[in-house]
Amino acid sequence: MTDFTYALDADGVATLTWDVKAKSMNVMSSAAFGELNEKIDAALADPAVKGIILTSGKKDFAGGMDLNVIAAMKQGGVQTVFDGVMQIHKILRKIERAGMDPKTNKGGKPIVAALPGTALGIGLELPLACHRIIAADNPRAKIGLPEIMVGIFPGAGGTTRLVRKMGAMMAAPFLLEGKLSSPKEARAAGIIDEIVAPEALLSRAKEWILAATDADLVKPWDEKGYKMPGGTPYHPAGFMTFVGASAMVNAKTFGVYPAARALLSAVYEGAMVPFDTALKIEARNFTNVLMHPSSSAMIRSLFINKEALEKGANRPAVADQTVKKLGVIGAGMMGAGIAYVSANAGLEVVLIDADQAAADRGKAHSDAILDKGIKRGKVTADKKAEVLARITATTDYSALSGCDLIVEAVFEDPKVKAEVTAKVEAAVGPDCIYATNTSTLPISGLARASIRPEQFIGIHFFSPVDKMNLVEIIRGKATGDLAVAKALDFVRQIRKTPIVVNDARFFYANRCIIPYINEGIRMVAEGVDPALIENAAKLVGMPLGPLQLVDETSIDLGVKIAKATKLALGDDYPDEAVDKVLFWLADEGRLGKKSLSGFYAYSDKGERLGLWDGLAQKYPRDKMQPSLSDVQNRLLFAQVLEAVRALEQGVLTDIREGDVGAILGWGFAPWSGGPFSWLDMIGASNAVDICRGLTAQFGPRFHAPALLRDMATKGQSFYPSDATHKAA
Ligand code: NAD
Repeated sequence: MTDFTYALDADGVATLTWDVKAKSMNVMSSAAFGELNEKIDAALADPAVKGIILTSGKKDFAGGMDLNVIAAMKQGGVQTVFDGVMQIHKILRKIERAGMDPKTNKGGKPIVAALPGTALGIGLELPLACHRIIAADNPRAKIGLPEIMVGIFPGAGGTTRLVRKMGAMMAAPFLLEGKLSSPKEARAAGIIDEIVAPEALLSRAKEWILAATDADLVKPWDEKGYKMPGGTPYHPAGFMTFVGASAMVNAKTFGVYPAARALLSAVYEGAMVPFDTALKIEARNFTNVLMHPSSSAMIRSLFINKEALEKGANRPAVADQTVKKLGVIGAGMMGAGIAYVSANAGLEVVLIDADQAAADRGKAHSDAILDKGIKRGKVTADKKAEVLARITATTDYSALSGCDLIVEAVFEDPKVKAEVTAKVEAAVGPDCIYATNTSTLPISGLARASIRPEQFIGIHFFSPVDKMNLVEIIRGKATGDLAVAKALDFVRQIRKTPIVVNDARFFYANRCIIPYINEGIRMVAEGVDPALIENAAKLVGMPLGPLQLVDETSIDLGVKIAKATKLALGDDYPDEAVDKVLFWLADEGRLGKKSLSGFYAYSDKGERLGLWDGLAQKYPRDKMQPSLSDVQNRLLFAQVLEAVRALEQGVLTDIREGDVGAILGWGFAPWSGGPFSWLDMIGASNAVDICRGLTAQFGPRFHAPALLRDMATKGQSFYPSDATHKAA
């Protein structure tokens, strides 16, 4: 294999160019590590070589580690993982020491990382082991260590080196939050050493090598008397940092993310020992995290399967359906957001509302978002002008001529929607696909207003559109493959993540989130302490407790949905315990955050002050409170059983979509990898037992679906065991 090519110039400067042939972005594999090792050995041993430039043959440096390396290591068990990680440390440490005398720190060969663009994960950990990092001035480049986002942490020395380079406090956002920076920001933070014009990248690297002295190559932590910036844990300043960091991490993660905990341990314990021992501690903690089921599940859902869905894993095999001109009908909250993300992705957009002022307001939404971007230095004035120029705000349906996709986002009223469908279909060509952004109305019903029901589909965005990355695509009874492909190609164009589900009440995401909210409200009515309900949810990794969530989405919306559901379900509607609480709050005028009053009390500025004490007067708290795990089981099973039912009933057709959709759509405990991954983690048989107990105590809504009972009997799991990295 040749992932790295080697060239030596007349001045004795060797260039190792990383270029993985079959990929558009370099990723590190086991074999490539071996190759890098050999080539570094050869260069260090060759007296003709004065120094080495490590660079990339692509526009970016590297995207990170090939996850199959991690999968292969995991297959071998704990010792194999640990040994594999230590082997990586050995190679990087060799680069860092570059042949220098261990006592005098003299005689090493300078090694410079020259980064033309993005450098992520191992793509930054490797440069951090070099003696200098020079990056091209490339504003599109992203520099960082995003491992924590998929449930692991930088385990190739990145944690130990960054902390020793910058201090624990300064390194925290990069390690603990996976913060990515532009080269300029990375330079300002001290992650990289120098920025040069792209065309000067290699010449500057060479110049540095030829001028480097012995002292330039020695890392501070290899010098006598090294002191960690900001102090170690027993240093007065360091003490403050470490005590604060632990509290901060736990406040954010509630202790449910093994990676955050292990990272902190690696940093804390590593800070108190010599560098090589710190690497060993990092490796132990990394191994621990890698062997935890949470990291497998997170990598599977948030990386492998998310990407597979974005690349069209479930796309019907029809010709390319890239959208050229988009029509958005309804310029309210959703329509305005959809117009913005589409125009921002380069699409021409016609934004229609009933009157010109409303259409203009919709367009002004883009203006406001772009202005924010300008303030934060992320958007230029030219880019803003370009994006705005792509949006035509009008009331004139004839402007839709030439549109190949329509997304309708008018009021949630079947009559209004039907009128709009007819008007649009009269204005567009026969090939145009028509999508509705309805959140509650069945697609097959709305499609009755269409003369081309096979071209009618649901494209359900989440609010706020520019922030929420999930898009639920809903196939109605008559929807054809072309429409599904169009929707998927559109979602790819706007760089969001799609799931494709079949038509049913509330589709998938809302179907699962409503029982979560309802279970929380039900407990309030039973006399469970609301603080226990909210904290139980957070302690199991839900971003918002059910009561806060309903406050955010608004209580009157809850009332509206409850009334509509009751009308549709008739006698099948469950008991009214939830409605009683919701309707009472609505009658009291407590509509949630927007009215600055709901389950929570708010300040005039909209800050949550705490749970409203009026709740306790109406629903006195029981003296005997349930255990934390009972409350958590109720909250989690309310959601996951609904997800299993959606699968059983064919609304979901792919568990990968169920898991990815749950995390991106409503923030379902990301550490778990999603509802199906979570059920696999606890085991079907255990889940069925818990359901039995919950059913006996709280009612038939916790009855385990046949699918789950059957799996329990057969000892099955949703994912084939250890298929973590094969799904893609
Ligand atoms: P909104 O009230 O903010 O906007 C609706 C817009 O449609 C208004 O600007 C209105 O003037 C316009 N409109 C109404 N009738 C029209 C007509 N005949 N022709 C042209 N324009 C017309 O509502 P929204 O929150 O943006 O919701 C729009 C749709 O998106 C609804 O179907 C809703 O269920 C769905 N949805 C909403 C959310 C959410 O969180 N708000 C999330 C997902 C989906």
